[in-house]
Amino acid sequence: MTLRIQKQQSVMQEQGWQAFLVSAPENVRYLSGYTGDEAWLFLPVQGQASLITDFRYREQAEAECPACRVLMHSRPQPTFYQVLAELTAGCGNLALEGDVVTFNEYQKLAQALPQTQLIATQGVTERLRLVKDAAERETIAQACQKTLQVWEQTRQWLRPGVTEAQAARYIDERIRDMDCQPAFPTIVAAGVNGSLPHHQPDGGKVLASGEMVTMDFGCRWQGYCSDITRTVALGRPSRQMAAIYQIVLEAQLAGVAALGPGVSGKEADAVARDYIQAAGYGPQFGHGAGHGFGLQIHESPTLSPAGTEALPPHCFVTMEPGIYVPGLGGVRIEDSLEITENGARNLFGDDKSLFCL
Ligand code: ZN
Ligand code: ZN
Repeated sequence: MTLRIQKQQSVMQEQGWQAFLVSAPENVRYLSGYTGDEAWLFLPVQGQASLITDFRYREQAEAECPACRVLMHSRPQPTFYQVLAELTAGCGNLALEGDVVTFNEYQKLAQALPQTQLIATQGVTERLRLVKDAAERETIAQACQKTLQVWEQTRQWLRPGVTEAQAARYIDERIRDMDCQPAFPTIVAAGVNGSLPHHQPDGGKVLASGEMVTMDFGCRWQGYCSDITRTVALGRPSRQMAAIYQIVLEAQLAGVAALGPGVSGKEADAVARDYIQAAGYGPQFGHGAGHGFGLQIHESPTLSPAGTEALPPHCFVTMEPGIYVPGLGGVRIEDSLEITENGARNLFGDDKSLFCL
């Protein structure tokens, strides 16, 4: 954690920021090790960081953040703003997370710190989080192993007659059996609902023979996410849906094969996208081919036409092209991968040929 704080402090040095208030829980966790709620991390450009929280989290904060000073705010005094005013005394400026601090918080900060220039920043800690260290890599690999086990259990359990909501509950229970939480709300989309990429599982929709079912879920393990999507057929699918599955699978495999250090998110996206386009389904693939993940389910880098930066070794991304045809259904196939020194490592590696249950 100390190394992470030093890295952020050297960014602050370069930018001329005398202090930094970290508000996003994932960033507070990344820099300090604190896993609870309701805490802010105050970083001076040099010297020790302070974690500001309240009585409920004192013991946890002191145990998890040996490198930080733990400060309390309480009611009626001192308020969080009073604690911060003391910390920023003598600081000409204070950098804030512009995407996280609300307008009301900003106004209170401006009032409490009249002598301090407030600076909006974007993605500072998020950039440090892009490349995962050895401990994070291990944790993410474990999250993916658990997710794969959940998938294998689900594949054996799934059958016509259950509802989408029952299937989603089954998946969530298996995730909890692994001592994990769902990394995001589990998606189960059957039949025509498959054309909605983020369909909410419906308690009234019974899975029927002849339909395809798309399931998108992941385990959050020790704070870190994983992300998988599998589409299977219940009984024999229609010819068109089986053909669509094959196209998505080949696009996904081509996208995965294109991943590696130095490749941009845009280039990797284009490989999967061009394949689907050439097969005649370009307009039916309307989202990015993948995204980074880690402490958050969606983080840098993006695998989409907006992803201009080269992927570095040890960042983690998904590859998840899909085809969505309203009134017919949809297919999406997603793996979680680690960019390595010379390619990409698939963290699932199961057989993705069309599975007919
Ligand atoms: Zn997913
Ligand atoms: Zn995803």
